[in-house]
Amino acid sequence: MDSIRLRECDNEYVWHPFSPMQAYREEDAPIIVSGDGFFLIDSDGNRYLDGISSLWCNVHGHRIPEIDQAVRQQLDRIAHSTLLGLSNPVAIELASELVQRTPPDLNKVFYSDNGATAVEVALKMAYQYHIQKHSSPGKRDIFVCLSGAYHGDTIGSVSVGGIDLFHATYSNLLFDTVCVPSPVTYRTPDGYDADSYLARCYDELARVIVENQDRIAALVIEPLVQGAAGILVHPSGYLKRVRQLTADHKILLIADEVAVGFGRTGSLFACEQEDVCPDLLCLAKGISGGYLPLAATLATDEIYDAFLDDPTKGKTFYHGHTYTGNPLGCAAALASLNLLEQNRVLDNVRMNAQRLADSLARIEDWPHVGEIRQKGIMVGIELVLDREKKTPYALQERMGHQVTLAARNHGVIIRPLGDVIVLMPAPAMPGELLDQLCDTVIDAIDETTN
Ligand SMILES: *Cc1c(COP(=O)(O)O)cnc(C)c1O
Repeated sequence: MDSIRLRECDNEYVWHPFSPMQAYREEDAPIIVSGDGFFLIDSDGNRYLDGISSLWCNVHGHRIPEIDQAVRQQLDRIAHSTLLGLSNPVAIELASELVQRTPPDLNKVFYSDNGATAVEVALKMAYQYHIQKHSSPGKRDIFVCLSGAYHGDTIGSVSVGGIDLFHATYSNLLFDTVCVPSPVTYRTPDGYDADSYLARCYDELARVIVENQDRIAALVIEPLVQGAAGILVHPSGYLKRVRQLTADHKILLIADEVAVGFGRTGSLFACEQEDVCPDLLCLAKGISGGYLPLAATLATDEIYDAFLDDPTKGKTFYHGHTYTGNPLGCAAALASLNLLEQNRVLDNVRMNAQRLADSLARIEDWPHVGEIRQKGIMVGIELVLDREKKTPYALQERMGHQVTLAARNHGVIIRPLGDVIVLMPAPAMPGELLDQLCDTVIDAIDETTN
């Protein structure tokens, strides 16, 4: 099919995720036919720098010989066999590698195929754990989450989500949660400054946990950075405090590292930075280097052991997806892990984090730049109509989207969160390409807001 025909068929048959389809169909979005390192190539032959790691998952770039080869070699053996009652060598090897690299108490790996299922699995494990562990079953059925949280789009993961635009529609379908305020201070409620508001966030966290201590199954958190909320960066020490409070009250901690995992915050896993070991850890996005759909939920022995008993006792975890532990995905993940170490990708992330900060300092006091938030190589630039009053742009201006279109015209692919411009370069992106990404996006912001 040529480009024109492809576009006709795209508009005729494909319903795109998270995309307002009426507008999408008028926009002639690029149709990506191939990749080349950190670039994407469309059906008209245009090259674009991939500024969001193909939605936050690509790690080493596209068409990386070592990962390609690992997938091909696995294809020569088998593409898929089930993990229900059987096993496969790559799933076994990857589980062992993950256990070695994640915080110390996480010794068991449950596979699935995307971030939402990794969270869904953790929620169900936490709930069932309490039932099977304690003598008074069924009481611990509340989950604590953070305002603005995003954990995926299945009904369970939406239940622990806090983004109204995505989640409010389904409110009647969701289970009960208690929400604590996200510890961020760009916009504080009346009567608070940054310090007093943060103090309130800590107090609220403690209050919610103490008041509901016997009813809470788990607290779910995106460690260090709340991605989809607009790259909200937590103050250091918050995660540690969450861990202390949950541990003190026998509440499980679920760390959703789907976005922050595999290097994006400067360490392999974000929890490391506060020396925290969660009870359950959710991994997806970067796990396969951004090659194939794969996810994992890691659990402690304490949790795993609560599911052991005579098979007739019904303590089994009755959950599993058809493509659980898919060998192609696991082969890609093993190759990606090797490359992370061989190429010292974490060193690159730390250098690039500084390089990003230096580049973005240029626009810090621009009149429509409200706040620049950054952790590692995760960046959110919040655009506002009025910098002093922090007034957002009118919704219908779709300012974030306009900047995206301008960047695309200059050969860079980004995708905003509302009016927050997101930069999510691949952890292995070379510095010169990072500069190109920043320069282009800064130009696009300049063009669009002035
Ligand atoms: C993207 C994301 C998810 C959902 O992952 P999918 O693979 O899209 O289902 C869950 N949690 C966080 C923190 C994410 O950023």
